Amino acid sequence: MAPLPLLSGLPPLCPTSTCRACSVTFIPLIQQRKTCYHCGFSWCTDHLCVDHKALLPREGGGHDLKAVCLVCWPHVKSEAACSTPSAIG
Ligand SMILES: [Zn+2]
Ligand SMILES: [Zn+2]
Repeated sequence: MAPLPLLSGLPPLCPTSTCRACSVTFIPLIQQRKTCYHCGFSWCTDHLCVDHKALLPREGGGHDLKAVCLVCWPHVKSEAACSTPSAIG
């Protein structure tokens, strides 16, 4: 199993009323709003996959599992690949 990517820290959160990718409007209980913890923007459930998770360092130590949007995911993953020296083997 591949190690989870590590986020550098909590981004400035920019909640919006529509999805950044498809501009769908969030409606409570019908169209859920999800926050990406890499870019801090709001995304619909189509554009923020719950399978795309990264570790966010916690202030008191340890990590929280946070979701990352489809736009950030390739970046988060490639950054993680670069910073993992034990990938060979
Ligand atoms: Zn969307
Ligand atoms: Zn993002």
